[in-house]
Amino acid sequence: SSFDDLGSKYNFQPYICKNLKNSAYEKPTPIQMQAIPIMIHGRDLMAMAPTGSGKTLAYIIPMLHDLKGPEKIGYRALIISPTRELAQQIYREFKKMAVGKKFKVCMLTKATAATQAQTPHLREKFDILISTPLRLVHAIQQDIIELKNVRHLILDEADKLLELGFLEQTDEIFAACSNVKLQKALFSATFPSSVETLANDFMKDPIRVVI
Ligand code: AMP
Repeated sequence: SSFDDLGSKYNFQPYICKNLKNSAYEKPTPIQMQAIPIMIHGRDLMAMAPTGSGKTLAYIIPMLHDLKGPEKIGYRALIISPTRELAQQIYREFKKMAVGKKFKVCMLTKATAATQAQTPHLREKFDILISTPLRLVHAIQQDIIELKNVRHLILDEADKLLELGFLEQTDEIFAACSNVKLQKALFSATFPSSVETLANDFMKDPIRVVI
């Protein structure tokens, strides 16, 4: 099966197919094969997928498909990354796939927080937020960020997030993402009981994918 097949089956917008071609991605990886349909169907997802498996595109493609294009209503997707380095990788992958649509993406990490948090920058009508958890919680506590329109919440490298103390940040983040149509997806290289617990506590009937 190819991205062309997946694209015709789910009616991807032409720009998505074009960007896949331009990136020379022909075949979806196993995690992409499984995760993309599940997310397009609107289900919550917990996926065991290590770095290198193609996990980033596995959530970026269905996210782009659903968001359709930029809207000036504020954040509609939130990707939480344990580290700034991973956040930057996600940003680059997103930009590659979003060529042709003027999505506004905000990065909120240690390096960017100092400048952004002090300006009204975060209140601008961005479509997508890529953040590390602590910076996000600070922004929520300062009431400088609005997450009620978020429809896609992605926890990337959930095992790493938990190792770094994510459990203490979940209450505020999940409370801020109050949209009834919120879809959650969690990607993790390993599935210790802490990740299971997180998924069971915060997701609705998640579909499990192990590759
Ligand atoms: P990730 O697991 O998301 O960190 O992705 C690992 C690498 O695989 C990234 O450099 C991607 O650009 C690349 N990649 C993702 N999906 C595909 C695909 N379907 N075909 C070829 N390469 C891919």
